[in-house]
Amino acid sequence: MTSLAKAQKTSAYERPILRERGQREVFCGLTGIVWLHRKMQDAFFLVVGSRTCAHLLQSAAGVMIFAEPRFATAIIDDRDLAGLANADDEVERMVGEVIARRPNLRLIFLVGSCPSEVIKLDLSRIASRLDGRMAPTVRVLNYSGSGIETTFTQGEDACLEALVGCLALSPADAPSRLLVVGALADVVEDQFQRYFRAMGVERVDFLPSRRIQDLPAVGPSTRYLLAQPFLTQTAAALDRLGAVRIDALFPLGAEGTTAWLTSGARALGASESRIRETLAIPEQRARSVIAKWRIELAGKRVFFFPDSQLEIPLARFLSRELGAELIEVGTPYLHRAHLALELALIPDDAVVSEGQDVERQLDRCRNARPDITVCGLGLANPLEAEGLTTKWSIELLFTPIQGYEQAGDLAALFERPLDRQSRLKV
Ligand code: SF4
Repeated sequence: MTSLAKAQKTSAYERPILRERGQREVFCGLTGIVWLHRKMQDAFFLVVGSRTCAHLLQSAAGVMIFAEPRFATAIIDDRDLAGLANADDEVERMVGEVIARRPNLRLIFLVGSCPSEVIKLDLSRIASRLDGRMAPTVRVLNYSGSGIETTFTQGEDACLEALVGCLALSPADAPSRLLVVGALADVVEDQFQRYFRAMGVERVDFLPSRRIQDLPAVGPSTRYLLAQPFLTQTAAALDRLGAVRIDALFPLGAEGTTAWLTSGARALGASESRIRETLAIPEQRARSVIAKWRIELAGKRVFFFPDSQLEIPLARFLSRELGAELIEVGTPYLHRAHLALELALIPDDAVVSEGQDVERQLDRCRNARPDITVCGLGLANPLEAEGLTTKWSIELLFTPIQGYEQAGDLAALFERPLDRQSRLKV
C-alpha cells in the first residue's frame, strides 16, 4: 500500500459518523432471493414463513411470471402450537416435493423468517438432517432472511455465508486463485472474467457460482475481492478458512472499476504494464460516456437514506465522476475496514450516517430539499408527494451497474428521475 493510500485510510477511520438507532424503513433479507435465484441456476429457495413473506416475494419478483420460479414459501404462521410438532415434517415433505418436481436441482436453501412459529423451529437442524440424507446429490443449507435479523442486502450476505460453509478447503501450498465474492449479473461477471484473463489472471472463481459443481475450494492461497459492499459475514467466514481479502474500491464507475480490477490483478501478480494496457482504453471509453451524464448531474444535491449498503460507493461515484454534491450518505451498516478506501473519497462536508432514526432523518432531508433523494420504496411515495424527486435504491440491485460497460447506465439511473420530474412540470 502506498503512503498516500495509508494516509487516506487513517483519515477514513477518524472521520466522524452520525450513528442513529431508531425506527427503520427497510426491506427484509428475503428480497435477495429475487436476484440470487436468477444467479444460482441449480438452486431453490424454500422460505419457511408467513403469507406476508409469500406476498413480498411474489410482488418483488412479479416480473418473472413467465418462468417457473425457483423459490416458494412454506406457510406455517397460522398453525397453533400443537401443529408445530408437525412443522418439521411439513418442511421435509415440501423439500421432497420440490426435488421430485425439479430433478436438476443441486442446492436447496431453507430460508428462515420472522413469525414466532418459524423462530421456534430449528431450521439448521432440519437442514443438516436433510443434507445428511441427500448429499452429495443435493445439498441443503439454511440461513435467515428475517426482517428482525436482516435488512435488504444482508439476506445475500447470510446466503453466501451459508454457501462458504460447504466449500472444500484447499491446501496452503495450492497455486493462488482469485475469488470474486458477491452476486453479479452474468453479463458483468463475463466482462470481469475477460479483463482478468487479458491481464494474465487465469484462475478466477466466483461466489456464488452459477452451478454448485463450480464452487471453488478455498484456503490460505485464495485471494478474494468483494464485488459488493454488504458481505461482512461472508468475508468473516472466508477469513476463517484462511483466505485473504484484497482491499479495493468497489467496481462502480470508471474509477472504481479500474481500481477494483487493478487490485485483483496485482494481488495475483499481474504486471503494471499489462494492467495499464488492458484497462486504459475501456476506462477511457467509460469516462467519455459518463461525461455526457455529468452535464445533467453536476451540482445536483443528493441525499441517501440507508437501504442497500451500496450508498457509500455510489456516493463516491456521483461526487467524483458526475460532480454531484452530497448532503447526507446514510447506510444501514458501515464496515469501516471494507469501506475505508471508499470513505476516504467522500468529501468532508457530506454527512455520513449509519443506522436510522427515520423521523429525524426525514426532517434533515426536508430541510435540505435535495435534488435527488435515494431511498427505499416505503419512503419514496410520501417524499414524492412532498415534491422531492426520488430514486428507488432497490433498482440499483436489480440492474447490472458494475463495470465499465455499465457505468453509463448507472449514471443514467440517477438522471432519469430528474428527467421525469422536469417533464411532469412541463
Ligand atoms: Fe415480513 Fe419478516 Fe416475512 Fe420479511 S421475513 S416478509 S419482514 S414477515
